[in-house]
Amino acid sequence: MTAERIDGKAFAAGLRARVAEQVAAFTAAAGRKPALAVVLVGEDPASQVYVRNKHRAAEEAGFESIEIRLPADTGQADLLAEVARLNADPGVDGILVQLPLPEQIASQAVILAIDPDKDVDGFHPVNVGRLGLGTPGFVPCTPRGCMMLLRDRLGDLSGLHAVVVGRSNIVGKPMAQLLLAANATVTIAHSRTRSLPVLCRTADILVAAVGRPEMIQGDWIKPGATVIDVGVNRVPNPDDPQKTRLVGDVHYDSAVQRAGAITPVPGGVGPMTIAVLLANTLDAACRRAGLQVPD
Ligand code: NDP
Repeated sequence: MTAERIDGKAFAAGLRARVAEQVAAFTAAAGRKPALAVVLVGEDPASQVYVRNKHRAAEEAGFESIEIRLPADTGQADLLAEVARLNADPGVDGILVQLPLPEQIASQAVILAIDPDKDVDGFHPVNVGRLGLGTPGFVPCTPRGCMMLLRDRLGDLSGLHAVVVGRSNIVGKPMAQLLLAANATVTIAHSRTRSLPVLCRTADILVAAVGRPEMIQGDWIKPGATVIDVGVNRVPNPDDPQKTRLVGDVHYDSAVQRAGAITPVPGGVGPMTIAVLLANTLDAACRRAGLQVPD
């Protein structure tokens, strides 16, 4: 058996196109574009690429994209003042402060300062609480994207056993909450979990969010399971030592022999993250304008 490849890139393109249509409808109804503000402190090269990609995607979908770049030596008080200004600006619907922040700034203080109703990353404790309670809020983009891929592939997840490997606040924990809300039976595994391969073999849905290249082997996978590989790891390219390549947390070549469906890396979960950020920002704009939030 060879697993079906879950094409996150194509799914994300479809989502972006749907969001663009809804943005046009919002703009007509509200008389203004929905707006996303992205704040970047410093010049971390990876963060610069992420921010540029978010800016481009937002503009392409018809949002107003506000990019705020602050120098690497910005103090916490100045960043908090910037966040307060964006909170108070009625024309701003979504605020995202790109992480990681320079060491003189406490990320948690900044996350806490963002208006929860503009917190399109879903990192504010109020939104973490809303997710736990099952009330409307913002869900972190990567796990929400994983859920969309799972629902598209499996439909109803009721009663399926989902194993989430990883318990970070931005991926593993919210992923587990979403699966639970979808009536899956959820097990969360982490670095202290015993007999991880045995546990993984019981999973109908296996979500890997570990950050360890190709850790999860094919023979850890229950035949026919749906595998979502969140990991993004850069490793040396065996064909050319001067170059690197991207791999997931799952050993794709062996996993594809056992799984029913699997996301590749790259081209699986990765492209979903920005598409969901746009969807979250549109949701924020609709709620703030008193318009119906798209399904
Ligand atoms: P973190 O480092 O925050 O969390 C990793 C988790 O994996 C921890 O809970 C840790 O356990 C667990 N873990 C580590 N080693 C093992 C092990 N040997 N066995 C079992 N569990 C283990 O990572 P993130 O959640 O932020 O990211 C995970 C991966 O997803 C990374 O590769 C990251 O690059 C990628 N990512 C991809 C995104 C995308 O858009 N595609 C977005 C965000 C992340 P413990 O808690 O016990 O330490």
